Amino acid sequence: MPQKILVTSALPYANGPIHLGHLAGAYLPADIFVRYHRLKKNDVVYICGSDEHGVPILLRARAEGVSPQEVVDRYHAVIKKSFADFGMSFDYYGRTSSPVHHQLSQDFFRELAAKNTFRLKTDKQLYDPEAGIFLADRFIRGTCPVCKYEDAYGDQCEKCGTSLSPRDLLNPRSAITSAVPVDKETTHWYLPLDKFQPELEKWIAGHPEWKTNVLGQIQSWFKDGLKDRAVTRDLTWGVPVPDGSGQDTAGKVLYVWFDAPIGYISATKEWAQEKGEPGLWENYWKDPETRLIHFIGKDNIVFHCLIFPAMLMAHGDYVLPQNVPANEFLNLEGNKLSTSRNYAVWLDEYLQKFEPDALRYVLAANLPETRDADFSWKEFQARHNNELADILGNFINRTMTFAHSYFEGKVPAAQAADAADRDLLQRLAEAPARLEKLIDNFQFKHYVREFMDLARSANKYFNDKEPWKTRKSDPPTCAATIHYSLQLARSLAVLGAPLLPFTSRKILDMLGVDQMPEWDQSGQPGLSAGQVLGETKILFGKIEDDLMEQEIKKLQTTAPAAPVAEAEPENLISLDDVRRLELQVAEVIAAEAVEKSNKLLRLQLKIGVEQRQIVAGIAQHYPPAELIGKKVIVVVNLQPATIRGVQSQGMLLAASDGEKLAVLTVDRDINSGSRIS
Ligand SMILES: [Zn+2]
Repeated sequence: MPQKILVTSALPYANGPIHLGHLAGAYLPADIFVRYHRLKKNDVVYICGSDEHGVPILLRARAEGVSPQEVVDRYHAVIKKSFADFGMSFDYYGRTSSPVHHQLSQDFFRELAAKNTFRLKTDKQLYDPEAGIFLADRFIRGTCPVCKYEDAYGDQCEKCGTSLSPRDLLNPRSAITSAVPVDKETTHWYLPLDKFQPELEKWIAGHPEWKTNVLGQIQSWFKDGLKDRAVTRDLTWGVPVPDGSGQDTAGKVLYVWFDAPIGYISATKEWAQEKGEPGLWENYWKDPETRLIHFIGKDNIVFHCLIFPAMLMAHGDYVLPQNVPANEFLNLEGNKLSTSRNYAVWLDEYLQKFEPDALRYVLAANLPETRDADFSWKEFQARHNNELADILGNFINRTMTFAHSYFEGKVPAAQAADAADRDLLQRLAEAPARLEKLIDNFQFKHYVREFMDLARSANKYFNDKEPWKTRKSDPPTCAATIHYSLQLARSLAVLGAPLLPFTSRKILDMLGVDQMPEWDQSGQPGLSAGQVLGETKILFGKIEDDLMEQEIKKLQTTAPAAPVAEAEPENLISLDDVRRLELQVAEVIAAEAVEKSNKLLRLQLKIGVEQRQIVAGIAQHYPPAELIGKKVIVVVNLQPATIRGVQSQGMLLAASDGEKLAVLTVDRDINSGSRIS
């Protein structure tokens, strides 16, 4: 049975072009994931679109003297084109200014209002008496109380970086008329997240497999206690709040974070309409079997893991996400990317000079999967030249050149396989299963490494077999070497297709293969002897130093004066942080499977004189009996949680490489209850 998978990438804000940081967060990983699942013949739909509402768009429109619609039309087109050129394979790329989206967002709001989900609250907000409108934080300017910069925004001082609220500003003024803002009462709808917290906690507890950076952020939100969030705003740009509640909705729109995630649903609906099967979107959004996966950057975790799920729970018709593999941030040459300072590598500018696959490869090899990462042009050049060109490109090129020069441009027959050939075939046969596990578990960096290792072993095979010698001394062996090298080239084209779609197509063209083979066939030889090969093409030329120096120089003009520290401070923790973790040795005295779960084990542990129960997601790696008597390591001061209806008081530590999992244990026998420091 093919899996039904619905994948979304965060809707980019139609307020500027896309840069590398965006790609590394929400887009490239999703595209690799989706392309793999298509090759696997799963039923996957990939949805994205432009987020076209919100205050920054209004501000930009005002600054340029154009309408907000003009701003979003311009950037929607720019973003859509960059994505297409970069090989982003969305099934549908929508926009939140569309009528379908407005309608669906209003229906969603009405449904929640009808269920009495919202709280109404009236309070005072700042108002421009001359323009006659309420002022969003960004529409209030004034003097920063910290650094005395006179043009700070109501939410942040761009000079010193301090987060502000409009009432912190000295001499506040309206950015529209320069009038002094006054207080005026206004009523808004709030989503009472506190009421949803227990249900959200229960749901999150059922997902111990989520990435630790994501779970960590969620737990800290839980710990602080979730608070009301306004879902409406006094603004002129956005989805109007629908009438019907008896309240005055004039001049009010849905807050952008309320309507933007609904954009995933409305874009799926438009996709179905475009396909001529208008009801098809419901097969994904309303089927509990759907694997809904949201790819995002870490700044969006609260929206996708708490707020949107709470909205979905309140609505009741839709599936909840099965995973939200959020990435951390990408820095650039040691500095934080900054759109406002133009410190970025913009995708459209990159694509004017370099190949999309080169960037896909280098970014994927260094994704900020669990901590922030850094992009540098030197690394780009090194990986491009040393890996893409010298390993993958070189292997394909020498194989093709040999086949054209000595085998009439056809796949030669392999009479017999020797030990080295058989080793290679064995490695190849195992590759699809190994790589697919990594992709499906969102370990894209690891997948990239394994893929390049496979290309490396192909190159080594070619070297070791020395076909330039056997061509004269042992022609059948030479033919076999080229035969298997060509088979390997075909496999690399398929296994690398999610990562390098353009290169993959070029390799298949060289091999004379029209139809992309399925993933599951990529571990087996698929070329027949005698097959006519296509023309040899160079896949990756060398990138020279002077090109890189131009790029580095360009960035230096907008780089901040003081670079961020080598290791990002927020990644480092203090000794106190370490000491907050209480780790102890525990002896497993009983273990059994949790009912209706193939992943979870219920363990009874003896920790000194105490006995505790914990639930661990290790059932696929350990038969329960094997654990009994083991001395394991447990975090004992973790908040208790109920997982699948089973109380869990603590967390078992285990190591994983994506494939194997090993429970941590002690090096020699020691009493249970021993403290770890
Ligand atoms: Zn300041």
